[in-house]
Amino acid sequence: MDYDQVRRNIYNAFLFQKCIVGAFTLGFGFLIALGGIVGQSFSAGLLIFGALLFVFGLRCIKGISQNEKEQVARFATLEEKNFDWYRNSFPENVQSGRVSCRNCGSRRINIRGLGDRTYHCEHKCAGCGQTLYYSPEGNL
Ligand SMILES: [Zn+2]
Repeated sequence: MDYDQVRRNIYNAFLFQKCIVGAFTLGFGFLIALGGIVGQSFSAGLLIFGALLFVFGLRCIKGISQNEKEQVARFATLEEKNFDWYRNSFPENVQSGRVSCRNCGSRRINIRGLGDRTYHCEHKCAGCGQTLYYSPEGNL
């Protein structure tokens, strides 16, 4: 898996969201507020509505940025905690190609797709539920 490509995809997807939300809320909010001021008659209602829409837009964009940070951080974890990391960190739990749980020593490992466009599987101990490591989907 090309993690740099994934990071670019995340960045682009969130940039797109910000542009759409920004255009609709900040753009329209500004125009509506402006209409309240420079229209034929001053309209406090339009001004307030436009200002609220503008503030709402700023909050939305902040929220989108927060989601982006979380998703990037999540991918960093998936990239870092892979099988090689597990083998290097807990060599006693990877012997002759057999993986065991670093917590309870069980050899029963469940693999489940994380979904949600992470394209990764989680390798989890069937005994105690400890997450051991992650692997890219389709390359188990
Ligand atoms: Zn375990």
